[in-house]
Amino acid sequence: MLKENIEKTEKVQISSIYGPVDSWRLGKSLGVDLIMDPSTCSFNCTYCQLGFIQKITKDRKIFIPTEKVKEDFLKSNWKDAEIITFSGSGEPTLALNLGEVIKEMKKITNIPVGILTNGTLLNDPDVRKDVLYADIVSVKLDASDEDTLQAINRPATGVNLDVILSGIKKLKEDLVGAYRNTPILQIQIMFMPQNKNKIDDLAKLLNEIKPDEVALNTPTRPYPGGWDIITRGAHGEDAKKIKYPTKPLVQLTHEEAKDIENKLKELTRLKIISVYDE
Ligand code: SF4
Repeated sequence: MLKENIEKTEKVQISSIYGPVDSWRLGKSLGVDLIMDPSTCSFNCTYCQLGFIQKITKDRKIFIPTEKVKEDFLKSNWKDAEIITFSGSGEPTLALNLGEVIKEMKKITNIPVGILTNGTLLNDPDVRKDVLYADIVSVKLDASDEDTLQAINRPATGVNLDVILSGIKKLKEDLVGAYRNTPILQIQIMFMPQNKNKIDDLAKLLNEIKPDEVALNTPTRPYPGGWDIITRGAHGEDAKKIKYPTKPLVQLTHEEAKDIENKLKELTRLKIISVYDE
């Protein structure tokens, strides 16, 4: 009982807002963590900066009340941010109050809002309604086949590639017909040894989805051996403060990244941005 109370008190004291941190994809990014429970996600990616996910689930709930997120936001350095990014300690679309929190922030500021999502819940119309409040929706798509999805993303039971692709395509349809706001749809691909030779298959999926842009990534942050809240925003020097031993991950060489970028450009004609861009 005492332990539970201490944990509750700590959770109230830790801010749901962190940064701003430098994000190559999005600029000076203020992080919003609607999870903090601890790490909770419908994936358990082998490269996740949060380490092994503590709770693998696809059930939505309210983790942090909107009022607390708003208070934390007002106390933060939000005015220094170029973008407000919903990411944090897991999958942001698991938070039932995602749309409500974005609406509250938009009452305070015009700073654009981005969501980094793994796309696993996009078949749910309520989730799609929530993400439509954002200005950029960045959806992870690392796998072009089921085996690769299982090998890299290790999804929750019931999540498979067909589910993910149908959700992304429904979101794309909603974006085309959006009356309120039209967020940019970005597909983000993390290149790992298991998918770096699957460019033709990934290009085929990208041609079906037709996102506004594609972000090519390589694991620049180490994989921590345990859960620690600071991993949600730990870049560069901050990554050294993680209290668990960390494991560096295999990164693409500059040459590999350029080859992949050129090949994807040729096969899709889409706008491609890369973690290796100057
Ligand atoms: S989807 Fe994101 S938060 Fe979830 S396990 Fe993968 S990298 Fe981590």
